[in-house]
Formats: sequence, structure tokens, C-alpha cells
Amino acid sequence: MTLVGIVGGGQLGMMLAEAATELGIGCITLDPAPDSPASRVAPTIVGGYDDENALAELAAASDVVTYEFENVPVASARFLAERVPVFPPPGSLEFAQDRLLEKTLFEEVGLAVAPFSAVSSRDGLAEALDVIGVPSVLKSRRFGYDGKGQVRVGSVDEADGAWRAVGEVPSLLEPLVPFDRELSILAVRGRDGRAAFYPLVENIHRDGILRVSTAPAPEVAPELQERAERHALAVMERLGHVGVFAIELFQVGEELLGNEMAPRVHNSGHWTIEGAATSQFENHLRAICGLEIGSTSAEVHSAMVNLIGSVPPAGSFDLERDVHLHLYGKGFRPGRKLGHVTVVGPDPDTRDRVLGRVTRTADNLG
Ligand code: AMP
Repeated sequence: MTLVGIVGGGQLGMMLAEAATELGIGCITLDPAPDSPASRVAPTIVGGYDDENALAELAAASDVVTYEFENVPVASARFLAERVPVFPPPGSLEFAQDRLLEKTLFEEVGLAVAPFSAVSSRDGLAEALDVIGVPSVLKSRRFGYDGKGQVRVGSVDEADGAWRAVGEVPSLLEPLVPFDRELSILAVRGRDGRAAFYPLVENIHRDGILRVSTAPAPEVAPELQERAERHALAVMERLGHVGVFAIELFQVGEELLGNEMAPRVHNSGHWTIEGAATSQFENHLRAICGLEIGSTSAEVHSAMVNLIGSVPPAGSFDLERDVHLHLYGKGFRPGRKLGHVTVVGPDPDTRDRVLGRVTRTADNLG
């Protein structure tokens, strides 16, 4: 049996391990916590992400190693890659960990981005504000996720506070983009270089955290889908990426701006478990194990609602054939993703009716 090592035992690792079971693939995860979500479904090596003994143990136990979050130290990924095939390649991590490299890469392959200025000091922020103006967003170059490491700047007077709030670390300043909507393109690329794409997903964020994804996104012209696919393919080819890959996009009129990329399975792809012919988790495993990539077509109309900060008491959702609850078994904490609900329907109207019920229940939870 093929054994896949997963660095990280969060919910993404858990859902990868669940998908692996159906493919007859075994998984083992590495996580500092003994009670991580993935530990419920796969054996865990308990250790830090920079613990060479733990990494060596993972490499020795695995035929191929992958990761479920992008802040895995690149040195650890390289350490693993000297011992066992690692997919996606460590280079994908390197680009995804630094907003400056990421944006430069997007521009290089022809995906437009919002204007940005690199900021490395308080004085540098003043200069950047002269160029970019307000309202703008100051984002740390590294270790930002779910709205963390970013702060809005409404006026030049707020610069001091913003610089402190971002942690006085190397950052980027960019304008607050008046987007019409947020989209994401989910792609998967195999070891043989063949790629496939899921339909564009529309995403609604709250406080910088993904709240609802709708798939396929409504009103997407084939040309828009093709454009997003072209950009994703170009980035993946440039990185030699293998596995699932996501780019978060702002749509402004007919223009697409690249915001962020994730070299891994992505929250806006959770709907694929019930809503696509092959889930992103299965396809990630297929890609990294050198198996044929499964169909990415959307079979139904789906929407996914994240449960953030609290989970419903048992029985809150009407769990019918069109409502699917996934709980990650994590402790409650404000702003933490604790689970998600996927709603499917034969058409957008039916799906939206059920989605309305589900979001109301989720909202009442806080
Ligand atoms: P990020 O960490 O860059 O993915 O940002 C999280 C969310 O914050 C995005 O999905 C947007 O909803 C919002 N956001 C980030 N950057 C901008 C921006 N420049 N303009 C408007 N909204 C933004």
C-alpha cells in the first residue's frame, strides 16, 4: 500500500486522510499536537515542523510526502526532499510564503495584481502611502492567513498604529480594491504535467476569513474561466507544481487581479467532496502519487459555509441528503475554523433556499 506522509494534521490533513482511505492509500501525519484533527483518522508523529528526528521518521515511513499548510519551513521541506519525493515541490512553498514573491510571480505570468509597495520601516510606510494612497491595506509579507497580519489604513494618521499592528515586519501596502466579487480558481497538476481545473468558485469573506463559497460561481463566461485557468496553469508550470493549487482572485469589472495563492488543498474547494466528480482531496492524492487525475466537473450546484468560532449543538442543521456537516474536532476559539457545511442542489435556486437556512443557523451560533 502506498503511504503518504502529510506535514500538518489540521482539517485539511484530516480530509486528505479520509479521501486516502477510499483510494486504498495510507496516510501518516506530522503535527506538534497529539490530538490534531487528522489524528482521528490517521497515525500521527508528534513533533515540531523543524524537528529533524520527527521529519526523518516521517520520511522513512512514507513513499511520498505532502503538506497541508503553506507555512511549513522551507528548510524542513528540503530536508524531507533529500530523503523522499516531496510534492508539491519546496519551491511552491517558498513563493507562497512571501507575498512579494507571489505578486511578482503573478505579474511575470501575466496575471495582473493591485498596485503594491514593499514596506520595511515606519518611514517606508509613509513613502508607500504617498504612492498608494488611502484607503489601503498593509499586509505582512510572511505568515499571514485568515486576515491575520493585515490591517486597513483609512487615513495617513493611522500609519503609526498600522505599522505596530502589522508587527513592524517587512510588509506590502496595497490599495483597498473595490472588487465586484472574489473568486478562486482551483487547479490540480499531475507528476506528468497534465492539469485539470475546477469551475471558478465565488467567495464571501467576513473579517478576512472565508465565510461562504458558491460553486460553480454564478455568471461566469467561458472566457473568464479560460483566463483564470490559463493563469493558474502558467503559475503551476513556472513552479513545477504537483498537486492541488488555488489562486484567490478579485474580479473588478471584467478584470481579474491575483490576490493570493495556496500550493495545497484549499478551503474554497471543500464543496468538491459532495459537489464534484472527484474531490480536491482525492485529486491531490492522485496527483502526488502519480495516478490519473479524476474528473473535476461539478455535478450539482454547491455552497459551503464555514463554521467559525463555534459549532452547532447536535441537531441544529436539518441534515438531509442535500446538507452535509463536517466537524474537525478542534477546540473552540474565536475566529477558528471548526467545521463546514456543504449544501448541494440540482439548480441554484434550490441550493440557495437551503443555503439561506444553513447560514441563518450558522449565524445564530455567533
Ligand atoms: P488575504 O489574506 O490577502 O487573502 O486577504 C483576506 C481577505 O481580505 C481577502 O479575501 C479580501 O476579502 C480582503 N482583502 C485583502 N486584501 C484586500 C484588498 N487589497 N482590497 C480589498 N480587500 C482585501
